[in-house]
Amino acid sequence: AEMGRAFVYVILGGGVAAGYAALEFSRKGISPGDLCIISEESVVPYERPALSKGFLLPEAPARLPSFHTCVGANDERLTPKWYREHGIELVLGTRVRSVDVRRKTLLTATGETISYKILIVATGARALKLEEFGVKGSEAENVCYLRNVADATRLVNVMQSCVGGNAVVIGGGYIGMECAASLVINKINVTVVFPEAHCMARLFTPKIAQYYEDYYKSKGVKFVKGTVLSSFETNSEGKVTAVTLRDGTRLPADMVVVGIGIRANTSLFDDQLTLEKGGIKVNGRLQTSNSSVYAVGDVAAFPVKIFNEIRRLEHVDSARKSARHAVAAIMEPNKTGDFDYLPFFYSRVFTLSWQFYGDNVGEAVHFGDFSDKTFGAYWVYKGQITGSFLEGCSKEEYEAIAKLTRLRPMVQDLDELAKQGLEFALKN
Ligand code: FAD
Repeated sequence: AEMGRAFVYVILGGGVAAGYAALEFSRKGISPGDLCIISEESVVPYERPALSKGFLLPEAPARLPSFHTCVGANDERLTPKWYREHGIELVLGTRVRSVDVRRKTLLTATGETISYKILIVATGARALKLEEFGVKGSEAENVCYLRNVADATRLVNVMQSCVGGNAVVIGGGYIGMECAASLVINKINVTVVFPEAHCMARLFTPKIAQYYEDYYKSKGVKFVKGTVLSSFETNSEGKVTAVTLRDGTRLPADMVVVGIGIRANTSLFDDQLTLEKGGIKVNGRLQTSNSSVYAVGDVAAFPVKIFNEIRRLEHVDSARKSARHAVAAIMEPNKTGDFDYLPFFYSRVFTLSWQFYGDNVGEAVHFGDFSDKTFGAYWVYKGQITGSFLEGCSKEEYEAIAKLTRLRPMVQDLDELAKQGLEFALKN
């Protein structure tokens, strides 16, 4: 291929991390023409979490340009115009086919070679397909996945054609649970199917999960737990009409939403960079095993200082903050230390809203009133608070548990901790 354009900085991927990195680059002072963002998506970076929430609402749904980055962190909204005004080159709707980290070049699907001095890999993750679990049927027109705005647009169309009908949601994680809530709000009958004993199995305790499952049930959602999808029944048009589960249950379906996990998009670098925990391994400066290449967001496995361990997180807050930190490390190397990140996850469904900080290891100590709207839990590991969860509280109260988790205080008496509950965080 012919030699194409050359940039000082290239961001590969145009998702959440790319948007936050772009804002940070502009604040640190780049010149027009220095930075290029290459994305397979045809729109500029946006707040991906909106796709399973506001985007799916039946009334006044969120639509671009309203949720471009960086509105999710109460920051500037970066529209296409903003990128133009800042001289940031956008190569949208373009897949990068290969990267040569030794020669510092990328080859796009359109045949252009783009070179960089510094590359930030922000390729995020892709939804796992049913086929990867030995089930056929992903291509049916009423089977939906949800990762990008194209998926979400398709999901909305399918959903609108199913009002009053039945949806089967495969998976009890974030995507499954948030979509189930949205489908119900759209007046669709929902059954959620997952193999674990309760929803959000990687994070929730059985007691926390019970609260949310009861709430969903009160909205009409059904759960089929401890089993998985085995096959689809389809009609002559190739549409799914029912799903069969491994336990023999048959569920009629006008649509199916699949949320069975993600894989980080590392494949361009599998033979070129050091990988760990399914992601690209980086140091505290978000720098990979090649010093000209950084990785941020869902694709990065980075040292989480307070746990003294390399982790790959799949959450928007870590995408935003790792992106900013990488840019600071690139632009102000002497002023920038190691990324010191406290893991933070959240979700909002119906009128519920929870936040989690830290790590859910050790013993869970529940507090508050689980029959009411506000409750929580601390996780105590080796005598220290390492994680905390809170539902239905104020900004100050969430900040209090975040601060507490960062401090990791020793606790002796778990009964006393349960009794004090949120007070323990507020007085610390
Ligand atoms: P992404 O935002 O996925 O961006 C990756 C970009 O890279 C995409 O634009 C992709 O097209 C592009 N790309 C990949 N490969 C190539 C290639 N070869 N060539 C060109 N471009 C490429 N997190 C929370 O904490 N709370 C939530 O409530 C929440 N809700 C979510 C809801 C949904 C529906 C989804 C899908 C995710 C949600 N998340 C949530 C997770 C959060 O959105 C991600 O952690 C975040 O988007 C990661 O940012 P990223 O920039 O690393 O990757």
